[in-house]
Amino acid sequence: MKLGLEEAQSPYTSGSQSARAWTEQWVKTWVYCPNCGSPTINAFPNNSPVADFFCAGCKEEYELKSQKRIFGNKVLDGSFRTKCERLAASNNPNLFLLNYDLKQRSVTNLCIIPKHFFVREIIEERKPLSSTARRAGWIGSNILLDQVPQSGKIFIVRAGRPEPKDSVLAKWRSTLFLRDQGQEARGWLIEVMKCVENIGRPEFQLDDVYAFEDRLSRLYPGNQNVRPKIRQQLQFLRDRGYLDFVSRGYYRVRSSI
Ligand SMILES: [Zn+2]
Repeated sequence: MKLGLEEAQSPYTSGSQSARAWTEQWVKTWVYCPNCGSPTINAFPNNSPVADFFCAGCKEEYELKSQKRIFGNKVLDGSFRTKCERLAASNNPNLFLLNYDLKQRSVTNLCIIPKHFFVREIIEERKPLSSTARRAGWIGSNILLDQVPQSGKIFIVRAGRPEPKDSVLAKWRSTLFLRDQGQEARGWLIEVMKCVENIGRPEFQLDDVYAFEDRLSRLYPGNQNVRPKIRQQLQFLRDRGYLDFVSRGYYRVRSSI
C-alpha cells in the first residue's frame, strides 16, 4: 500500500474537489475490502445516493469521508431522517474516515467504522436550517464518533503507516456478531463493550462493569434490572468470542481486540 496521492488528471479546479478526486482515486487503487480481504474495491457511479464504493466479491458497501484535519468527536452527515430510516433498514454503508496531508500529498490515517456500530445512540439530530437558508427547515445529522467504542474504529492506516492486513481483517471479524442483533440488542452490547474498554485493562471483574450501573440506568431508564442485563451482555460477548471468562466473576478481553 503506497500512501501518496496521485496528481489526478482531474478536471476540477477547487482545492476540495481535487482532494476528493485524489482520495477517491487512492481508495480505488490501494484499499482492500476489510470484510473479505479482496485486494481492491470499486467506486459507484458519481453521486450515488447510497454509498461511494462496493466490493465486487462480498457486496459490502462503503462511504468515504475525507478531510485534512483529524476527525473530532462529531462528523457531519446527511439528512437526519434518511439516516434513521437507513438504520432501521440496516442498509447503511460502512464508513471510511480518511485524513490526508495536502503538502506531502499523502494519506495519514484511514479508519473504518463497520456499519454494525451505527445505532441510534451515535446519530445526533442537528438544528433545522434557518428560514433564510436555501433548504429552510432541513435537518441534518452528526455521527458522534466519541460514542463509538474503540473496537468499532479499525485503522487501515494510522499516523502515516499501514496496519498489517491480517490484523485489520481479524478486528473486523471480531465484532461481526453484532450484525445478527436487532437495534436495541446491539445498543446494549455496544454500551457494555464501551464500559469494558473504559476499565482500561484486558482483565477485569464483574464489579468493574457494575461501576457503570448508573450510567447505563440513565441511558436505559426503562430497565429496572441493569445488573442482570450487564451479566447477560458479558455472557453473550463470551459466547461470540469477544471475551473469555477466566474464573467466577473474572473476565479477559481477547487479544485481537
Ligand atoms: Zn469484500
